Amino acid sequence: MAKLLTGKEVVAAMRDDVAARVEALRAHGVVPTLACVRVGERPDDLSYERSATKRAEELGIAVRSFALPADAPESELADVIRSVNEDASIHGCLMFRPLPPHIDETRICDMLAPEKDIDGISRASLAGVFTGSGHGFPPATAQACLEMLDHYGISVEGKHVVVVGRSLVIGRPVAMMLLARNASVTICHSRTEDLPELMRLADVVVCATGRARAFGASCFRAGQVVLDVGINFDKAGKLCGDVDFDAACAALGEAGAVTPVPRGLGSVTTSVTMAHVVRAAEERAAN
Ligand code: NAP
Repeated sequence: MAKLLTGKEVVAAMRDDVAARVEALRAHGVVPTLACVRVGERPDDLSYERSATKRAEELGIAVRSFALPADAPESELADVIRSVNEDASIHGCLMFRPLPPHIDETRICDMLAPEKDIDGISRASLAGVFTGSGHGFPPATAQACLEMLDHYGISVEGKHVVVVGRSLVIGRPVAMMLLARNASVTICHSRTEDLPELMRLADVVVCATGRARAFGASCFRAGQVVLDVGINFDKAGKLCGDVDFDAACAALGEAGAVTPVPRGLGSVTTSVTMAHVVRAAEERAAN
């Protein structure tokens, strides 16, 4: 059985640090505040909003919700983003995606002020990740992968990492962030040939495809570390990752390690979001 890299311990370790920083800000009259922007009522958005709000409240971070109907015109959402940008009491903004198809998502994401883009959704923030300039915030899920590795003392320096998935939400940014830590990174996608063979060559595998339990025993070997970013529902409606967990655990053996779904990277992503709001509030207070 592979070692389980669970999110709970990472979340607990991050909580103490973030709570102390919130207290210090509040002592100076600053209430770190997160804006949640949602278009429509997709169940996964509502569930993420609920868990983010709960986590924020536990930490003393205020949340302001901006909810629009699913058929709201792009101009209405643009107005919301403008008011978030202009409101000095808001430090960070979390916008649920994907947006409905009638809205130009890239255009809306690029409107968000860089200092409030705590989930790295604008091209300006992604440029910071890709150039290594350190400007802006990286996408929270990509950062959660690094927090997970750090917490469990797993170094990627000089190691071969295979990232499966090339979206700007997770695959590409996490690949760049691992590269910045001196990993040798292979990025794979739906057109990659001989994917299981490539995955088996890796020391660390990051699965970020959104394909329920798509990666089984043939994709893994003993001793690998596997980060499963997927949040999917199987045919029975059960929450699962991209990795066929039982098959992977058997293939990875006692020397291997894997993040479970649920109880893995999802909760760490929420913690990273909170840490980013606090950093945004600290940076504003310092200026
Ligand atoms: P996405 O935009 O749909 O991208 C999926 C990527 O996976 C694409 O690059 C696609 O390749 C690749 N892919 C699809 N099927 C594949 C296959 N059979 N073999 C190899 N590659 C394949 O999805 P996303 O937004 O990146 O999200 C990926 C997953 O992460 C989803 O389950 C999502 O729910 C989850 N997620 C989790 C968190 C979290 O907090 N843990 C946050 C965000 C997303 P092509 O480019 O060739 O199409």
